[in-house]
Amino acid sequence: MNSNLQQVNGVYFFIMLITSALAILLIRYTVTLRRYLKEFTRVSKKVSNKEFHTRFNTYVKGELGELSKNFNYMIQIMDSTIEEVEYKHLQLTSIVKSISHGILAIDIKGNILLINDIAKEMLKCDLKTNVEGSNFKFIVKDKKILEIFHKYVGSTQNEVIELDLRDNLVYRIKIDPVYLQDSKHAIIGSIINIEDITDLVKLENMRRDFVANVSHELKTPLTSITGFVETLKINDEIDKATRNHFLDIIEKESNRLKGLIEDILMLSSIENGQDLSYEQVKLFDIFKEVCEITQYIASSKNIEVSYDFEDEEVHILGIRDNIKQIFLNLVDNGIKYTPENGRIQVIQYYDKDKQNIILEFKDNGIGIPKEYLNRIFERFYRVDKARSRDIGGTGLGLAITKHMVKSLGGNIEVNSILGVGSDFIVTIPQNTE
Ligand code: ADP
Repeated sequence: MNSNLQQVNGVYFFIMLITSALAILLIRYTVTLRRYLKEFTRVSKKVSNKEFHTRFNTYVKGELGELSKNFNYMIQIMDSTIEEVEYKHLQLTSIVKSISHGILAIDIKGNILLINDIAKEMLKCDLKTNVEGSNFKFIVKDKKILEIFHKYVGSTQNEVIELDLRDNLVYRIKIDPVYLQDSKHAIIGSIINIEDITDLVKLENMRRDFVANVSHELKTPLTSITGFVETLKINDEIDKATRNHFLDIIEKESNRLKGLIEDILMLSSIENGQDLSYEQVKLFDIFKEVCEITQYIASSKNIEVSYDFEDEEVHILGIRDNIKQIFLNLVDNGIKYTPENGRIQVIQYYDKDKQNIILEFKDNGIGIPKEYLNRIFERFYRVDKARSRDIGGTGLGLAITKHMVKSLGGNIEVNSILGVGSDFIVTIPQNTE
């Protein structure tokens, strides 16, 4: 009986021992699981906050350990993929921002996906405002541009439109469809390229005007020459005096043609930047040479050419022939547009801080009406066309002079009073070499 009781006690004790061991194991497992879940919550919170450098630190064996290893690997892959995507996005934005034209990417609904600062400036948006994500109809203010965007955004065609806007601006707008990968059917938006072609159009108009002017200027003397040659050929009975008169006209018109062609060639040679032999040129020597050349015509009108040089030794670095041409054109114009017994003065001095050399070409001639003062430097512009032609003018002299002064880094201005005289002021920076 006693031994039976002992056996029962032993079994109880054994069961108690097993239960206690199981309880301890369960508590330990629960503690580990709680710690694991806490760490899991911490890491997942950080990952959802885009902190992809976070890692699972709790070390556990078995399936939980495997799970944390896989979780860490997943975060690492996400980290590098997001880094790669961010880098690609940065690359793309930098490329778009560096393009010198205005660039916009717009989705099919008209929302702006990407825009660079130049496009913002051209569309007159505030540079500081982020317009990405907004619809273009709330961003584009100019009516004409808006109309074009409405018409062509989402179009399957490549479109090029030139728009004349207010403020004399001309924009070339190119709209190209964006296809989903290689599919030629699924359009997901448009790429818009805006180029400011105002200067280009201006240049093209100038070129067209120039060609028209040159043709006209060449045609007039040529018509006159061929006319008189024809008359002389078919009329044997023309008396000597009339014949000589016709020949004089032919000679005069031929000289005009020659002068015109020489001026056009000179203009094109400066524009092409030919003849680049720069040297130190003494201005006073140039003035003396020009005086000699123009002496005959000046004395034939009894015009006195005087001078006053603050520094007769002053030199500038430039192309000798061009500097001579500046003096020649301005002195020659003075003589041409000053009546008999007039006076021309060439004055040289420095500005206040000796940075610039100033040359003034003054005359007491016919003067220029105020409204034409800023036009006389244009090619072929003449105040009195007939008068200028009559005295052998081509209308190119001042355009050439201005070009040459500019190539020296200087500028030319004019003051004039009608009937009193003109004063052409050339400012050239001093070179210290
Ligand atoms: P042009 O060959 O006709 O003289 P320019 O280009 O030298 O051409 O001059 C343009 C126009 O400017 C002239 O036709 C003339 O009307 C005016 N002009 C130039 N210089 C003078 C001046 N010293 N006095 C008055 N008018 C001038």
